[in-house]
Amino acid sequence: MEILPYPHPALRWKSKPILEINDDLRRVVAEMFELMYAAKGIGLAANQVGLPYRLFILNLSADPEVKDEEIVFINPDILKRKGSTEGEEGCLSFPGMYGQVKRAAKVDIEAFDLKGECFEYSLDELAARAVQHESDHLDGVLFIDRMTETARRELDPVIGDFETQFRRWQAEGRFGSDEVLKRELLSLEPKSPEKKTK
Ligand code: ZN
Repeated sequence: MEILPYPHPALRWKSKPILEINDDLRRVVAEMFELMYAAKGIGLAANQVGLPYRLFILNLSADPEVKDEEIVFINPDILKRKGSTEGEEGCLSFPGMYGQVKRAAKVDIEAFDLKGECFEYSLDELAARAVQHESDHLDGVLFIDRMTETARRELDPVIGDFETQFRRWQAEGRFGSDEVLKRELLSLEPKSPEKKTK
């Protein structure tokens, strides 16, 4: 597992709900936390590691020692958005790139934890921004889609560089073609047991 760079097709994938919380999923989450901390991030969505699951993790402290800040969001749903605010965001799939993004100022979000229990938070400030950024990932929406016009215009050449680099990696075989990667994503989608036997 690795953090995938833009424009890997996983980042444009609309992820599917998780059907079962089991040891495999717990292992995935543990590995995602490791990758996130190694990259000094505060949030990571399953799409970003090539898994088409509705799942993201957060630790706003970015500190692996601060375990009580670790939150796992399974099948999250933003129930309410209030107000509007602009602030700087980065994304582990665009290393080193930052830009101004407009978001709701406050959100209510509901999700399941690793025990399968439903929880709800009312969030503002950085937490509200982070869950909106990560929830977007699950729909294949990226922060570059929501940047202010000025930020987007300024960063267009940088985004172009990410694209050039990724196509080069594909040509070198570090990543498969888009078609191959999409087929992999499709095969990784959570499936209910009766669908598997068909
Ligand atoms: Zn991101």
